[in-house]
Amino acid sequence: MSNYDIVVVGAGPVGSTFARYMAEEGFKVGIMERKKDVGVPLQCAGLVGKKIKKLNIVPDEFILNKVYGAYLHSPSGTVLSVSKKEPEAYVLDRVAYDKFLAELAVDKGAELLLNHRVDHVDIKTGDVYLKNHENKKISADVIVGADGYASSVSDEFNHPSKTFQAAQYLVDTGIDAFDSDYVHLYVDSKISPGFLWIIPVSESQVRIGIFAESSYQDLTKILNEFLDNEKFKNASILKKYQGFIPVYDPKKEISKDRSILLGDAASQVKPTTGGGLIMGFRSAKIAAGAVSNALHSQDIQLLEKYGKECMKKYKGELRMQLEVQKIFQSMTNEDLDKMFLKLKEGGAEAMISEYGDMDTQSPLIKEMLKSGLLFSILPGMLSRRISNLWK
Ligand SMILES: Cc1cc2nc3c(=O)[nH]c(=O)nc-3n(C[C@H](O)[C@H](O)[C@H](O)COP(=O)(O)OP(=O)(O)OC[C@H]3O[C@@H](n4cnc5c(N)ncnc54)[C@H](O)[C@@H]3O)c2cc1C
Repeated sequence: MSNYDIVVVGAGPVGSTFARYMAEEGFKVGIMERKKDVGVPLQCAGLVGKKIKKLNIVPDEFILNKVYGAYLHSPSGTVLSVSKKEPEAYVLDRVAYDKFLAELAVDKGAELLLNHRVDHVDIKTGDVYLKNHENKKISADVIVGADGYASSVSDEFNHPSKTFQAAQYLVDTGIDAFDSDYVHLYVDSKISPGFLWIIPVSESQVRIGIFAESSYQDLTKILNEFLDNEKFKNASILKKYQGFIPVYDPKKEISKDRSILLGDAASQVKPTTGGGLIMGFRSAKIAAGAVSNALHSQDIQLLEKYGKECMKKYKGELRMQLEVQKIFQSMTNEDLDKMFLKLKEGGAEAMISEYGDMDTQSPLIKEMLKSGLLFSILPGMLSRRISNLWK
């Protein structure tokens, strides 16, 4: 007999959310977490679209700041300013929020085992082998890999995910150098399709980070050069963080035999921004439906529905975001500067302010196609490739 109906590998925000859904339904859920403390170290900028409130429980105490808009900076300094009347995004205290989600899962009946690193799993039998526990083995009817970008569960049936390196500093600016209602995003061909961000956490503290296909050393060099600026002359770096962001891979298998993958383990991140919380939480809901159905019907093959449903839900948006990502990657700084100027002259700030959405970018792209703006900023071939996505 299995020890658990479901073993969730990883008590990250997505794994804990999924575990809660299943425990609420009365399933016996075990969460194996390799760390002794959930949520640390911080590996996130914590910026998340306002939709999060519709997708998960987010008590106000975990919202450090509300963001109304963004300044988008081209390499040579053209700035697009976009904003909304209502908050568009929240800056979360990710460490506290991750702990909260794990505690919530436990409150609903899930068993959280800290210091339990999964070494490998058998996706055919449902056996889960732990490291440093005298080769302890537990078993489950369903194994859920929510163990991040280097998922041991994914390794059983996928190639390791490609990743972007990310580096981030928590900076005390010393003065109110930034309007805390706005984030700043900087593009540069050196780091495309990644970018550099400034995310205000409070009136005087900001998270300054970057992600790219680069080494941590190269990224911190760029961050240090960026901070070597008059604007930061009173600033001090309070903390340094690093992490990895999986590159979204449409070919990745996210369910096989008795297992499914969730969140970063499934590379469920937005190709354009690397953000993973919204898509991870959406997928947790879809996965809960599929796993519940498979267990109630005692038909493990029904787990396949999870992958199919995710594909149906995300395919259009993600294909479009992948195209945008490819276009950014192919642009030189000169191209980027020209594009920003044309966008500014073509009234893009108002359009982005109206149609822009952190998580779903296709309405904005469609609007840009409709108005002809996209054709004016991109060579004909590229804009045709994008417009073909809707055919
Ligand atoms: C620098 C940086 C900035 C980011 N900024 C944002 C942002 O602003 N907005 C946003 O939406 N997203 C952001 N992301 C992405 C976001 O952090 C992830 O998408 C999110 O954490 C994914 O959650 P998860 O639960 O899938 O995985 P994770 O948060 O990675 O959790 C995985 C858990 O599994 C555990 N684990 C791993 N291996 C094992 C094992 N073998 N056995 C047991 N446990 C294991 C880990 O210890 C961890 O607790 C950022 C990422 C980085 C690196």
